Amino acid sequence: VSAAGLLARLRAAVGDAHVLRGGLVAGYDTDWTGRWQGRPVAVVRPGSTNEVREVVLACAAAGVPLVPQGGNTGLVGAAAPADGEVVLSTRRLDAVGVPDPGTGTLEAGAGATLQRVQDAARAAEFEVGVDLASRGSATVGGVVATNAGGARVLRAGTTRQQVLGLEAVLADGSIVTRMSGLPKDNVGYDLVQLLTGSEGTLAVITRVLLQVTPRPPARATALVALDGVPAAVELLITLRAGVAGLDAVEFLTADGLELVVAAGRARAPFAEPAPVLVLAEAVGLDADTLVEALAEAVASVSGVRDAAVAASDADRARLWEVREAHTEVLAPLRPVKLDVAVPVPALAAFVAELSGVAAAGGGHPVLFGHLAEGNVHVNVLGVPPERELDVTDAVLRLVAAHGGSISAEHGIGRAKREWLHLGRSAADIAAMRRVKAALDPAGLLSPGRVLPDV
Ligand SMILES: Cc1cc2nc3c(=O)[nH]c(=O)nc-3n(C[C@H](O)[C@H](O)[C@H](O)COP(=O)(O)OP(=O)(O)OC[C@H]3O[C@@H](n4cnc5c(N)ncnc54)[C@H](O)[C@@H]3O)c2cc1C
Repeated sequence: VSAAGLLARLRAAVGDAHVLRGGLVAGYDTDWTGRWQGRPVAVVRPGSTNEVREVVLACAAAGVPLVPQGGNTGLVGAAAPADGEVVLSTRRLDAVGVPDPGTGTLEAGAGATLQRVQDAARAAEFEVGVDLASRGSATVGGVVATNAGGARVLRAGTTRQQVLGLEAVLADGSIVTRMSGLPKDNVGYDLVQLLTGSEGTLAVITRVLLQVTPRPPARATALVALDGVPAAVELLITLRAGVAGLDAVEFLTADGLELVVAAGRARAPFAEPAPVLVLAEAVGLDADTLVEALAEAVASVSGVRDAAVAASDADRARLWEVREAHTEVLAPLRPVKLDVAVPVPALAAFVAELSGVAAAGGGHPVLFGHLAEGNVHVNVLGVPPERELDVTDAVLRLVAAHGGSISAEHGIGRAKREWLHLGRSAADIAAMRRVKAALDPAGLLSPGRVLPDV
């Protein structure tokens, strides 16, 4: 099939207006970090599952690979096209249902933003467990395809624990559907869980069924200034043991806070800067009890320099600002950006050694992330371009040496596939290759992502 033949078939499938080329592909052809860019054959925007199937079959017939793309907020270069690929944008698959109280589920099209899905849940006094600072652009299809984590994993689990069903188009055009939402449904292999976190390499997800839970009546948040990472870890352990309904424990450091304040994204929360700040949030029946429980935990830990506790939505939002602005404020500085996790007991040693590793590569690390899961967003600033790969390699090896994960929540994509062996055994990787070959023998979907070349 010629390129013209493919375009004609794509136009017939989705309509002329939804096959974008030339200048119209801006915004779809570059990833969020600006590090990955390609020239796609076209950006195609199907409006239904059947149209997705037609697009997949057209690309298969032409032998042209395609990459599913949602909000394009992924941080590992997976959703941006390589030259010559078709981008399948899911953004028109954006229907959002209403929560079903009988099953505790909410259905949404893959292209609906997480924000819209959260709003739909909230309107019925429910909540969705997953939450990310990118909620306004990230889609639920992308969230499922990356098994996104975020700030609420402590109480709700990762996206994996919240996907009760999905519908997806496989590389051969077949449509798999598990949308019953039954919590007990052990009929054969669990395709929902296989496709969750598959980063666009096994299927195009078209619809998802997410778990929703009753919205807790009260929330309280504490922002705590601390001496260093060991004190932050002590606080985490105290909070976990003593605060029922603990929902999030995040951290940031003085360097990152300074950048966020300088960018005008938040006001300095305390008069004196502190090496580490921890943000903790708990949910429950009444705000006073939560405030008391948080304050008690904070008071019992050594190394606390200052603290603020808030329960109103406006005050809590101000405390969250200092944490949530980090990714966007750091982006223009083009950091070497590595999302990793280490076991909490190893965190202090890992952070201490990281400075040396970064300095050896000519840079210095700015750290923040999801403390409760030992999930550190390592942003190494000032690394000369020719040394970026060395720094990446050194940081990921340090993570592995501490028994950590080279990808906590952002995925592998194109950015980390050469380091897959630091996170999985040879047997595991071989099994992943066999899964990929079975579901997508021609390598149609997102080639060059997740698995390294043989
Ligand atoms: C400011 C900011 C904060 C962030 N915070 C977090 C965070 O706290 N936790 C976290 O986990 N991530 C975070 N991220 C990363 C990102 O938002 C998540 O990975 C998100 O899940 C991506 O959703 P998306 O719709 O933008 O996906 P995209 O970027 O479009 O795609 C990501 C991957 O999913 C695949 N994909 C997308 N849609 C589909 C589909 N329908 N079917 C099959 N494959 C698909 C793509 O091919 C690609 O591999 C953050 C990003 C930013 C910019």
